[in-house]
Amino acid sequence: MDIPSSPDLAQRLASLKARIAASAIQSGRAPSAVELVAVSKTHPAEAIQAVLAAGQFVFGENRVQEAQAKFPALRETFPQLQLHLIGGLQTNKARDAVRLADCIESLDRPRLADAIADAIQSLGRTPRLLVQVNVGDEPQKSGIPTAEADAFIEACQNRFGAALAGLMCIPPADGDPVPHFIWLANRARTHGLAVVSMGMSADFELAIAHGATHVRVGSALFGSRPQPPAA
Ligand SMILES: *Cc1c(COP(=O)(O)O)cnc(C)c1O
Repeated sequence: MDIPSSPDLAQRLASLKARIAASAIQSGRAPSAVELVAVSKTHPAEAIQAVLAAGQFVFGENRVQEAQAKFPALRETFPQLQLHLIGGLQTNKARDAVRLADCIESLDRPRLADAIADAIQSLGRTPRLLVQVNVGDEPQKSGIPTAEADAFIEACQNRFGAALAGLMCIPPADGDPVPHFIWLANRARTHGLAVVSMGMSADFELAIAHGATHVRVGSALFGSRPQPPAA
């Protein structure tokens, strides 16, 4: 895998931020109303450091262990760094996740809520939390099923209060993501939740047009990732 050079990464960051700002303005919002979460999974600390140096401080990782290996050292140099965990979270990783993350975007089942609540209690640290909804009800995907979403969101609001900040989704890879974006933004509005995390490299402009407050963009910034081995 090629690591893009620092000037390349700074350039890509600038053009990505310009596209995000243009989409925000087009949907009648301030550019600052849409936050970029730079998804750095699989990319080395040097690439993250180049993006930090270019002024991007919010990052997303999908594996706790990988985030643990890369981020504490970067945080020493860049204390304003914010780490979002965006991948499916095993219950036995909840404690490490609460210790490490500023935002956990993948709260998707009651047992994980229990584990996160225990960790918050014992560590005395409360990351922001997003409920991930499996908007396409796909069997292989993380996220609370749509039919259970309202009840689960309410239970999490009661339990975590304002720390439950919003909703996150990954629409099915095939097909039109727009109905899913509309659905998620609508559920967030109904529950009085401010954060709507949706949109990735291929569709973040559509997501912004339909109410995303956070877009999670990896390959459009860092370049392509090595393909995982076939399962
Ligand atoms: C990898 C990943 C992204 C970023 O995907 P790109 O297509 O590279 O922008 C966004 N969200 C989640 C949950 C991811 O795992």
